[in-house]
Amino acid sequence: MSPSPSVLAVSRIAYLASDVVINSLSSAGPSPFASAFNALAASPHTRAAVKDLPFGADAGASLLRHRSAARLLSYTTLAHPQALNNLLLHLPELSSTPTVFHIAVGSDLSDALVLLSSLPFVLYSRTAQQAHDHALLASRLAFTESIAVLHIFHLGDVNETFDSLDEDSVPAFLLSEKRSLSRSEQKPSTDPAGLLQTYQSAALATVSLLRRPLRPFAQHGASEPHTVVFTLGRATVSTDIEGVAFVDVALLKPLPSSAILGTIPPSTTRVIVLEQVHRWSMKWTPLYLEVASAIQQSELPSPPVVQSGVLGDASSLSGSDIEAFLQRAASESPSARLSLGPSPSSTEAAPATPHVPRHESAYTKMLHNLFSDRLEILNAPELVASQGQAATTPEFALGRARGDIEEREELVSAVQDLLRDSTVSLEIHALLSRWLGARDDGLKSKRLGEELVAAIQADNLSSPAAQKILQLRRLLPALSRWIIGSDAWAYDLGASGLHHAVASKLNVNILILDTTPYTSRNTVDPHRRKQDVGLYAMNHGDVYVASTAVYSSYSQVLQAIMEADRYDGPSVVLAYLPYNSEETPALEILKETKLAVDSGYWPLYRWNPAREREGKEPFSLDSDFVKNELQAFLDRQNHLSQLVRSKPEIASELVGSLGENLKQARKQRAAQAYNDLLAAIDAPPLTVLYASDGGKAEKVAKRLATRGKMRGLSTTVSTVDSISVEDLAKEEMVAFVTSVAGQGEFPQNGRSFIKALNALAAKGERPLTNVNYAVFGMGDSHYWPRFEDAHYYNKAGKDLDARLEQLGATRFAPLGLGDDQDADGPETGYKAWEPLLWKALGVDAIEVKEAEPEPITNEHIKVASQYLRGTIAEGLEDTTTGALAPSDTQLTKFHGIYQQDDRDIRDERQAQGVEPAYGFMIRVRMPGGVCLPEQWLIMDQIADEHGNGTFKITTRQTFQFHGVIKRHLKSAIQDINRALLDTLAACGDVNRNVIVSTVPSLSKLHRQAYDFARRVSEHLLPRTTAYHEIWLDKKLVAGDALKDVEPLYGQFYLPRKFKIAVAIPPNNDVDVFANDVGFIAIIDDKGELAGFNVTAGGGMGVTHGNKKTYPRIGDVLGFCTVEQGVEIAEKIMLVQRDNGNRADRKNARLKYTIDRMGLDNFKAAVEKLLGYQFQPARPFSFDKNIDEFGWITGQDGRHHFTCFIENGRIQDEPEKDFKTGLREIAKVHKGAFRMTANQHLIISDVATEDLPTIKGLLAKYKLDNLAYSGLRLSSSACVAFPTCGLAMAESERYLPILIDKVEKICEENGLRNDSIVMRMTGCPNGCARPYLAEVAFVGKAPGSYLMLLGGGYYGQRMNKIYRETVTEPEILAILQPMIKRYALERHEGEHFGDFVIRAGYIAPTTSGKEWYDRMGGEGQHREISVGA
Ligand code: SF4
Repeated sequence: MSPSPSVLAVSRIAYLASDVVINSLSSAGPSPFASAFNALAASPHTRAAVKDLPFGADAGASLLRHRSAARLLSYTTLAHPQALNNLLLHLPELSSTPTVFHIAVGSDLSDALVLLSSLPFVLYSRTAQQAHDHALLASRLAFTESIAVLHIFHLGDVNETFDSLDEDSVPAFLLSEKRSLSRSEQKPSTDPAGLLQTYQSAALATVSLLRRPLRPFAQHGASEPHTVVFTLGRATVSTDIEGVAFVDVALLKPLPSSAILGTIPPSTTRVIVLEQVHRWSMKWTPLYLEVASAIQQSELPSPPVVQSGVLGDASSLSGSDIEAFLQRAASESPSARLSLGPSPSSTEAAPATPHVPRHESAYTKMLHNLFSDRLEILNAPELVASQGQAATTPEFALGRARGDIEEREELVSAVQDLLRDSTVSLEIHALLSRWLGARDDGLKSKRLGEELVAAIQADNLSSPAAQKILQLRRLLPALSRWIIGSDAWAYDLGASGLHHAVASKLNVNILILDTTPYTSRNTVDPHRRKQDVGLYAMNHGDVYVASTAVYSSYSQVLQAIMEADRYDGPSVVLAYLPYNSEETPALEILKETKLAVDSGYWPLYRWNPAREREGKEPFSLDSDFVKNELQAFLDRQNHLSQLVRSKPEIASELVGSLGENLKQARKQRAAQAYNDLLAAIDAPPLTVLYASDGGKAEKVAKRLATRGKMRGLSTTVSTVDSISVEDLAKEEMVAFVTSVAGQGEFPQNGRSFIKALNALAAKGERPLTNVNYAVFGMGDSHYWPRFEDAHYYNKAGKDLDARLEQLGATRFAPLGLGDDQDADGPETGYKAWEPLLWKALGVDAIEVKEAEPEPITNEHIKVASQYLRGTIAEGLEDTTTGALAPSDTQLTKFHGIYQQDDRDIRDERQAQGVEPAYGFMIRVRMPGGVCLPEQWLIMDQIADEHGNGTFKITTRQTFQFHGVIKRHLKSAIQDINRALLDTLAACGDVNRNVIVSTVPSLSKLHRQAYDFARRVSEHLLPRTTAYHEIWLDKKLVAGDALKDVEPLYGQFYLPRKFKIAVAIPPNNDVDVFANDVGFIAIIDDKGELAGFNVTAGGGMGVTHGNKKTYPRIGDVLGFCTVEQGVEIAEKIMLVQRDNGNRADRKNARLKYTIDRMGLDNFKAAVEKLLGYQFQPARPFSFDKNIDEFGWITGQDGRHHFTCFIENGRIQDEPEKDFKTGLREIAKVHKGAFRMTANQHLIISDVATEDLPTIKGLLAKYKLDNLAYSGLRLSSSACVAFPTCGLAMAESERYLPILIDKVEKICEENGLRNDSIVMRMTGCPNGCARPYLAEVAFVGKAPGSYLMLLGGGYYGQRMNKIYRETVTEPEILAILQPMIKRYALERHEGEHFGDFVIRAGYIAPTTSGKEWYDRMGGEGQHREISVGA
């Protein structure tokens, strides 16, 4: 095809302006661009390197490959759905690169407009001259702004002419302007007005060179029109019609509403938008959407009617045609789609068969030669013509494979049915059974299938089974099913169809071609996450994987392909084929392959899980070198910790607790090695299986396995779900250990297995007749105290025991039950059960002399971590899993990071065979909860860019981000650091965020208390440099890490978390008594801060059913001066460091230390370290622990507004755009933000002159709405589901719903504005301080809560358990009469918590140790089943 003037004009500018031009060749015939570039290359002004890509090749990947080497890239192509759809995948990455996409269109813009939303600038050219000028403008924009520009231009006709610039002026014009900051340094503006300005300044510069106008719109026609017609397309309607104005659009993006409205005069009553989009598949066309929304936003008193239409070929239209069209439009309803001019012929749209690049046929030919008509390429290019573009995707191919496999199962059933038919001939009978026996053999199944079909036809069999066989004869040969794809599938693996294929367990083979040449591997953008598909697939454990290179070892490829075909399950064959273009000579490919293989960049290997099952080595290395990552995988080290390196004997323990999916492949190898070892001992085997949510049952199971080994048994241990019922049936002796979840359910890692058992039992099958088993269940007989709930106790263990018996297994030891309520907890029951096991196995007489290996505890992990390093850095590099090693997840807490997973989809992910959706919670350290507007803006951005788009104000006055995936962790921490904040010690066994009363009215005191809190926080910070090293890439200590010292904490840090609060009476909003250490500000006669009363020993965490755990409020130790405060905090912490219980984390908080030592002894120990005594405590009084909402003016005349943020969640919701609103406030606010410990927010320090602005924004975003009930304003909830790993029930998502209902009861009784402090947490850990609320709910199981009553209104008294299990109807039934009585009988000023005690519902709690005394209600309100 010879190039049109438009193509010539565009090619010339692209050639002169760019360093590299990527040109996609056409699907049919020669490319007009290629001809133009060839002609240009012959000129003396050689500029760009032009790379032709075969039609259908991935242009996006090619552009990304060149982007780092080119100052300006251009891409040229004729619009074709295949070329453009492929490109679409890469546009998010390409949009911030200096790239111009020149897309030539015919009479339909539909294909090109698909790219519209992904790029910031889009120009449209109708004529050759406009195409020339826009090409220059687009290059200028892309070059100076480092941004991608889409230029869509009409192919035009051969008679057009255009004026062109001389060659030298093009590069000179571009280079005359200094380039802006690159987009990686500068956030791209998404604001259309800002983008328009950028366009205008580039256009102005271009105009000054061209001396021709360049405008977003060309307007002509009437000046005061009643109708305005927008056109986007080739047809320019030049006829003058009275009252009609035409707007020809040349700039499609950015298109701010103001610019559109500027083209619609006030006289306009009708707007028609005509676009050349004949194959647009969505309801609304792009320009129409822009125009209609601009008019909608205009708030015009009588907006014009807007109509949409398709613009056909308008070249032959006369004025009267257009008038007739306008009349038609006036009579149509506004929603009708109009059309002007004839449409182009529909043949233009037929999808063409994609071109398979010449080199790639090297592999496809091998497949054809090996399998000939047995070969089925599931996503063959030929399918595109009939199935559309999706036919080449892995999702499509997988769907086909699934369908085929199901049909073949039907075919097998039909053969079996016919086999049972006594009327068929002996010959057919023999053929049927031979085919059945050879159905998985490629050659035999084909031959026998053909004979079978011939015989059935010859005998004229008409039975349904025979007919079915004929109908499905295509599937008689065992097909070799292949999906062929490119390395583009290696990006975003987890979300791709490739992942589904790998995880499907279907018998499909995947051939992935990697074409990146070795020498250009580093020019591929390092920020793109191209994952190692081989490693990824191997981690699934049951996938055949081979890495091959045909130009290195032909025979290895053959072997791999044949092994993949034979493997019964998914296979992945990676095939290396480095080439840049179709013209790349074979010698070049050979050279690149050799370099890649010899250097280890592309190792040749095969991983065959089938061999492992036969007891052979599954891995064959076919080249000399192996990649480090692969080596790490094979060594089963997977970047395991320095802990492992320094203590190799505990490595197996740690590996044993890795995530199930990551562990899968490794487990097989480990099991094999271990079995080999044990086989030599010739001991009876024992398989230990456990199901455990919290880790207790896992520990017991592992200890059991260790003891078994020490008795010479050949023992293996794994989770219940890791074994199938079929595999279990092959085991001889199996011991199960299970805990129980929720209401008698199985723990997560045993649920699939128990479901399979239930299904078999329902069918009446008995597959386990060879299995001997014993079950030990662990539960709490008091967890469900009511008689009717008693059967939930140890239900999982009991059910499993019964089910195994039902399925034919033989019990070799009676069911053992461990009860948390026994004197020694579950150990009491276990000690009786274990000897029965040894007896039954005949090893009870063996004396075990060696000490059992010490279990690994947090204390071991801390001391071996080299000051909190562990292997966090290595774990971050490991792209094969979204998780970190278990020991590292204990350490990251000290860095303010918790590993979590989305519990809402945990079951679904497990069913899919993929690891949980891991995400991390990041907590910021922000003493006193004060942050500046600039910091707020960064937090807001972090939530969007790295988290789940929301963030949370916590009960410790700081920010928490959820859902941060591993690869975003480091950048999120670095961004937090950019805001001059950090996350060090926000969690972990250290002093955590120090909190301070917010009291806006007492500005001066707040400042002093805040300064004090900051000093305490800084003083007690860990000194390890690991944080800076791992997250900020700063090596602060020369040499190795061992030079770190922790003067306060030592290598073991604290036994447990440590919390400090500073309260400023009369508001106890920080719940000072709930903290390990509290400082209560004492004000002198002059209103100055005289010092603090110091409290110690508060803490909230409890374990359900474990009465050794209890909440406690702090005791007042005495008074200290402000100057003494920091030292006192330190010494209290040191006494706890040295005396806290390090053997039992559940008993390790300071509260237990004080109760164990006695308060006086504890105080004496602190005073001894201080060298002086506390002064006597001074009087103080609190009157509440909730926030005061609304505006308050402080002593310094500054204004403060406390917003109500329900449960602290900063997010945009319908009608409540709080996140956006706070962002807008942060942009103009000159004061600060203060988080409250009740999870609300104060816009603080607003100057009087700024009040109107802030008030305006608060009103605009409804942040000033405080019209909530007293109950809601006094409520708070922790996060719980879906992110918190400890949650047993909903909290943050449920409390607002419960309040809706309790609020109604309050309203009915006239208590709408009365404050009742109600709190909820998802587990007894107590993050929202529930034990100090007047009424509280603590999660036990989904929908079930512990109910507590009687807390003091200002946090001075703990509440007490009123009911051990309540569901919502019970909560409402309990509260209804109670609230009514409160309304009628309360004394003046009496709070609800005090009332329920006086009215005899519940006894007061006088101390932590007495917390359980008299629980369950008083007198007539006592629950009968309470066993306290
Ligand atoms: S109280 Fe429990 S459920 Fe709630 S956030 Fe804390 S640990 Fe998670």
